[in-house]
Amino acid sequence: MKAVVTGGAGFIGSHLVERLLKEGLKVTVLDDFSTGRPENLAHLKDSPGLRLVRADVADHAAAAPHFQGADWVFHLAALADIVPSIERPMDYFRANVVGTQSVLEAARAAGVKRFVYAASSSCYGIPDSYPTPETAPIRPQYPYALTKRLGEELVLHWVQVYGLPAMSLRFFNVYGPRSRTSGTYGAVFGVFLAQKLAGQPFTVVGDGTQTRDFTFVADVAEALLCAARSSARGEAFNVGSGRPQSIKRLVELLGGPAVHIPKRPGEPDCTSADISQIRRVLGWEPRVGFEEGVRRMLENIDYWKAAPVWTPEKIARATQAWFDCLAPGAQRKP
Ligand code: NAD
Repeated sequence: MKAVVTGGAGFIGSHLVERLLKEGLKVTVLDDFSTGRPENLAHLKDSPGLRLVRADVADHAAAAPHFQGADWVFHLAALADIVPSIERPMDYFRANVVGTQSVLEAARAAGVKRFVYAASSSCYGIPDSYPTPETAPIRPQYPYALTKRLGEELVLHWVQVYGLPAMSLRFFNVYGPRSRTSGTYGAVFGVFLAQKLAGQPFTVVGDGTQTRDFTFVADVAEALLCAARSSARGEAFNVGSGRPQSIKRLVELLGGPAVHIPKRPGEPDCTSADISQIRRVLGWEPRVGFEEGVRRMLENIDYWKAAPVWTPEKIARATQAWFDCLAPGAQRKP
């Protein structure tokens, strides 16, 4: 069996690659290293089944030949930050929408048996109901969420029109070792761990009572594998822990002082996945509890030594576009 993992040098991709190699698959990673790093796969470099290819998935001519002979395709390559998506929407459209179309066509031409798309719970925007089921209204709040949703629509359309055996998994707040440490202001875990290492206070958004459905990355890799093994197609499934945790609780577990920074427009107070569908259809269950997950992060904290250390002032500057564009009544800039 051969799998292609786009974005395999990224955070989630590198855990999936590890899992697939353990299952005895041959794995080709396609990554342009825009946010991913070869170091994320360094511990696997002696695996005979692993092939690492530098390619931009939106460059169809460069990417397509690498899908020949593939049984499974996992499409994770994407630009995955909020603020840069507001500042550079065209880059996000190219990577996440044109890139997905390119990968779909390459997979179709190769006659793959399974195609699994990494979608995002950000498609729900600020939902009306918690836990949020897959049938909730789709309301992207910023270009990252929109482009991931457009990618998902392409995937589901390719099932309908071309019979591609594809499905989509909507990830909720994935965390774990190797979560991104790029220059852009990003997910809470990377921000907090770098602050802890630097002896700086945690920058808590709002009062910290907001909750997130944090999902441990090993559980996400397992969900991707379950999806590839199943015969479901043309569906989207939530992948979450089903047990939202507050930011206050995260601060307690990490241990350290906190400062508070303003709430951001377009962000929900709660993310909470209804995971009854994926349990029923794919038989997948999250296994790593929050306390255990945080403990594993702390064991690997040295990874964040190279990460930027964010202060309230730096965050205010880095997230200016967020407030400028998304605050209610904000003047829309061209
Ligand atoms: P990541 O940035 O670590 O991984 C993305 C990878 O894609 C990187 O290795 C990057 O170099 C690569 N990439 C980007 N553009 C590319 C292109 N044009 N061609 C080839 N490779 C390209 O992010 P991640 O958190 O591991 O996210 C993986 C996937 O899961 C993404 O599709 C993301 O949208 C989705 N997702 C992540 C989360 C989360 O909480 N981390 C939540 C929902 C969805």
